[in-house]
Amino acid sequence: MRVCIIGAGVIGLSTAQSIYQHFHSRISPLTIEVYADVFTPLTTSDGAAGLWQPYLYDKGNVQETKWNKETFDYLQSCLSSPDSVKMGIFLQSGYNLCSETAPVRTL
Ligand SMILES: Cc1cc2nc3c(=O)[nH]c(=O)nc-3n(C[C@H](O)[C@H](O)[C@H](O)COP(=O)(O)OP(=O)(O)OC[C@H]3O[C@@H](n4cnc5c(N)ncnc54)[C@H](O)[C@@H]3O)c2cc1C
Repeated sequence: MRVCIIGAGVIGLSTAQSIYQHFHSRISPLTIEVYADVFTPLTTSDGAAGLWQPYLYDKGNVQETKWNKETFDYLQSCLSSPDSVKMGIFLQSGYNLCSETAPVRTL
């Protein structure tokens, strides 16, 4: 199977990685090609601050909360990896300052 991904920012590259992880042992041959007009270090993703946090409230979109939890669990699992420093992954405490009371959903 030949997979073509348009875009080499964080979405394109994580999509490529995810497809590889899920299918490389099941589909052979599996070729993944990433096409883009700009690659690292010139994408918007290269300029992002790199902060990740879940939204405080999903506005009823429970799927979004589930995706956020999966992402958090994945990033947290990377923390114990010897490559975490190279990946630039670490926990950072901080505050969200809101002008209104923020609704919170807990899983
Ligand atoms: C200053 C700044 C700080 C940020 N900080 C954070 C942060 O702390 N946390 C956070 O979560 N988000 C942050 N963001 C947002 C985050 O950077 C973006 O949401 C994310 O990078 C988008 O990733 P992407 O892969 O969709 O797009 P991009 O990184 O823009 O990649 C798009 C890719 O698609 C390619 N492409 C687009 N159109 C075409 C085309 N027609 N033909 C061929 N190729 C094409 C481009 O060449 C590129 O390779 C920040 C953004 C900015 C600008």
